[in-house]
Amino acid sequence: MSNLERDPHEQSCSAHPALEPVVELLEPRKVWLGRTQQVRRLLPHKERRMVGAWCFVDHYGPDDIRDQPGMWVPPHPHSSLQTVSWLFEGEVLHRDSVGNEALVRPGELNIMTAGPGIAHAEESHDQRAHPIVHGAQLWVALPEDARNAVAPRFDQYDGLPALELDGVRGTVMVGEVGGVGSPAASYTPLVGADLTVDGTATVPLTGEYEYAVLVVDGPVTVEQQRAAGGEMAYLGCGRDSFRFTGPGRLLLLGGEPFAEEIVMWWNFIGRSHDEIVALRNEWNAGPDGGSTERFGVVHGFTGGPLRAPDLPNTHLKPRGRTR
Ligand code: MN
Repeated sequence: MSNLERDPHEQSCSAHPALEPVVELLEPRKVWLGRTQQVRRLLPHKERRMVGAWCFVDHYGPDDIRDQPGMWVPPHPHSSLQTVSWLFEGEVLHRDSVGNEALVRPGELNIMTAGPGIAHAEESHDQRAHPIVHGAQLWVALPEDARNAVAPRFDQYDGLPALELDGVRGTVMVGEVGGVGSPAASYTPLVGADLTVDGTATVPLTGEYEYAVLVVDGPVTVEQQRAAGGEMAYLGCGRDSFRFTGPGRLLLLGGEPFAEEIVMWWNFIGRSHDEIVALRNEWNAGPDGGSTERFGVVHGFTGGPLRAPDLPNTHLKPRGRTR
């Protein structure tokens, strides 16, 4: 998915780790993706820019798209991040510039690693057979030592390990929960899991990580905090477990607090204003006569690519992980 905001403001985070357990309720803001789809954006949030290396969280649906355009995101670039596509319902067709065409389905993990640059397109697939779409689009920031060193790639994982704990069942997408580990590669210590609970459950955590939960189906109670479907509760660091009461479903996101300052603008992550300017200009120069060396070309999509919007008049500053 793409950040399609017409005037994407600079995303910033400041390095002030809340190295203690807290509970902060983060409400979503509604954002249009083009003209066809409205999503709820949880990260970056004005109070909280990142959770571990998770730096972007959109939650969408459940939407009935039988007579709607559904998801339609033309080719657009990414840099220095991984996209994680996770569906609860529906089916999405992914195409990228390293030649992958893949169906994104519920319960299967799809990770696209941009490295220095990649492009992709996403659209709803077979809306008659899959009239309801419900999912999350997540980005993971790549650390300095990996962001230009890893080659652009796309990985699909089905048969992810199931988690069965006392009162909770789910799927570990990335990292490890309760001794159950995902095969997916991450470049910083990270965790992501899709958890369902009927009554009350205690989920083991790693004390060095910070965590948040996105409530997919609710309301639920997370550490005494009531949270409705679509809301997020940030839990801070230093917990060896958290307690939640359903019935409900949530995405658990966590990781080692991200130590680096980043610049996040439109669909790019960089480390400086000048780097973002160069990425933008390089993308907007292609593919008609311009350079396609960094981002490549997405084949098979009907329609042209998205152009990066104008840069703001201000100088983009690298920021840390909180406000
Ligand atoms: Mn995208």
